[in-house]
Amino acid sequence: MNAFVSTESIHRALHFHPQDGITTSFYLDVDSTRYSGAKWKKAGLEMLEKKKEEVKKSDLPEDQHISVLDDLRSIQRFLQDRFELRGRIRGLVILSSSQGNFFEVFPLARSVRSRIVVSKEPYLRSLMAVLDDFNRLMFVLLDHREAKLFEMFMGEIREHGDIHSPVRRKVKTGGVEGAEERRIERNLGNKILQHYREIGDTVLDHFRRGHFDALVAGIKEEDYASFSHVLHTYVKDRLAGRVNLGPKSTLKEINREILAFERELERQKDTETLERILTMVGNDEPAVTGLPAVLRSLRMGACQKMIVDEEYRIPGFACRRCGFLSAEMDACDSCGESAVKVDDLINEAVDEILLQSGEVRYIHAGNELLENIDRIGAFLRYRV
Ligand SMILES: [Zn+2]
Repeated sequence: MNAFVSTESIHRALHFHPQDGITTSFYLDVDSTRYSGAKWKKAGLEMLEKKKEEVKKSDLPEDQHISVLDDLRSIQRFLQDRFELRGRIRGLVILSSSQGNFFEVFPLARSVRSRIVVSKEPYLRSLMAVLDDFNRLMFVLLDHREAKLFEMFMGEIREHGDIHSPVRRKVKTGGVEGAEERRIERNLGNKILQHYREIGDTVLDHFRRGHFDALVAGIKEEDYASFSHVLHTYVKDRLAGRVNLGPKSTLKEINREILAFERELERQKDTETLERILTMVGNDEPAVTGLPAVLRSLRMGACQKMIVDEEYRIPGFACRRCGFLSAEMDACDSCGESAVKVDDLINEAVDEILLQSGEVRYIHAGNELLENIDRIGAFLRYRV
């Protein structure tokens, strides 16, 4: 199984509209920090079995009935034989429509609330919220002769085709008073520029296809300025910096540097977000920190954007009638219904905020400022 989530597969999911068919959307929490061993697999398979029984008793039209059962079996087979939990994978989403000849797998670097949704179009809200939270980076590693391209998303890397330009390597000395030498040097300079332009064109093409939102160059420091100079404005605006890599770097070096660059970029973004919310709270502006305040504002529909420690998990209670969430109360405060016990209140809160057209931003665990907000906070639509 290739764990790389491409722009193309996201597009296929967004644009899949079954004519008169039906789609099964399978979400599974596979967070190994929470599930020891292969418990996540057992939980997933049990969920699929349960759904099969439900579908068998349902009154779906015959063709849809068959299609959904097919979907559930395909997902089951994938989970059994082809899915491998590794690296940063914390969540798994599989969209399937046997009728529509559609099957897409999304291994995610975030956990999701486990569930199976059977509906006409794929259920995408929670999936897109996770995908939107990550930067797609393109690393172009180049020297005067060649270039390699690596796209990186959610901690996974895919390589694109190499670029080779025929640039002569050595300048032959000689000629009348070095005139020949200068001519060759100028020519060589032109050829390098030509090579840069070719790379620039390829990079622009990838940009247009949605393959990155930030570009990083692996190039010698002295060449960085002339390379960035030839780039198209669209691409230049996305240039996020330089790393000490080149086309001759080993895969091990490339992996290490790329991941380190991404981590640092994320860390800066996280810190900015945390500083912003702390400033707002300090200035009595519409923002809150801590779980009780976030849940309270969620109940009032005031959450614009929730920010949360990616590893924060806490059990609690949820009212299935009105969406009320609480860490302590097992009876709903707003409608009086008895609330059900849930093992992850945060994922419930994420679902609720997405329902309210809000956003979620996860903060990488270990950021010192997380403590200052009690691991969770929210930017509000208005003061509560
Ligand atoms: Zn309620």
